[in-house]
Amino acid sequence: MARYTGPVCKLCRREGEKLFLKGERCYTPNCAVEKRAYAPGEHGRYSRRRGRESDFSLQLRGKQKAKRIYGVLERQFRRYFHDAQRRPGLTGLNLLQILESRLDNIVYRLGFADSRAQARQLVSHGHFMVNNRRNNVPSTTLKPGDMVEITERSSQIEYFKTLRAAEESRTPPTWVEADLDKLTGRVIRLPERAEIDGNLNEQLIVEFYSR
Ligand code: SF4
Repeated sequence: MARYTGPVCKLCRREGEKLFLKGERCYTPNCAVEKRAYAPGEHGRYSRRRGRESDFSLQLRGKQKAKRIYGVLERQFRRYFHDAQRRPGLTGLNLLQILESRLDNIVYRLGFADSRAQARQLVSHGHFMVNNRRNNVPSTTLKPGDMVEITERSSQIEYFKTLRAAEESRTPPTWVEADLDKLTGRVIRLPERAEIDGNLNEQLIVEFYSR
């Protein structure tokens, strides 16, 4: 599956806020949003939006932000939106729940990685099993009850050994259950809206695709 390979800090600067795409660095003064709080590009420093932003601009930015936070490209994101429309209930919440159910996001939520990008890399390198079967597809959608564990061989890698020591500093959200000592995790249920962070406005995304 294709992924964005350009400079990620530019994405945060473009959205004008921290999207927390780089793990620990995002919490340090080296964060690009803190050092250069203006849009990227030659004229970014001087570009000031005048007056009220158009509805389209707001909708586009809302959609782009969600894509960037979850590391999903346009075609896949649009597919998720159509899936969300077909499910019963609110399309916006369905979409966020689909994004949260991706294997790379679950690995990140369980505390096995510092960012979704790192989680994606760990998954694609074959370090995880889902329901006792090796799975190296970051976009796999998990369901409540699905088990995630680190393979026997990968658990001997230094990175995963140090995860055990970091157990206390990593608290997963209540809709997943993690055991960093055994290097296992489980999806308990889908997240409620209030449990999904990231300053997202799903209504803007629905409006964008409903134009
Ligand atoms: Fe965004 Fe993190 Fe880069 Fe800051 S360090 S600009 S939050 S990706």
